[in-house]
Amino acid sequence: MTTEQLAAQKQLILEQIAEIESSFDYLADETKAIEPSVSLGRLTRMEALNDKGVNEHVLAQNKHKLERLKNALGRIEDGSYGVCIRCQKEIPLQRLRHVPEALICVPCSEKKRR
Ligand SMILES: [Zn+2]
Repeated sequence: MTTEQLAAQKQLILEQIAEIESSFDYLADETKAIEPSVSLGRLTRMEALNDKGVNEHVLAQNKHKLERLKNALGRIEDGSYGVCIRCQKEIPLQRLRHVPEALICVPCSEKKRR
């Protein structure tokens, strides 16, 4: 990977980190305990609880992704970015553009699934 490509990946990762971090404020609001509000009807409350579950799921996923993105940044810093941790081959740039936090190449991730 060239220095320019690496810089572009870093930019991509930083953008995704910023995006996830800005979603936390919103999601934190949405996942607050739902008060047994007097003004909510039965159906509305059920809908609210359902939304809360969905948002909590998104929040957990985002936290996980944020961690992986930060790990990827660390790997850019120490020069190990873009190398599959299983077979030690370079991960194709096309995959990294799509999944900048990828740790393993596609063939290895498919082997893992089997
Ligand atoms: Zn591999």
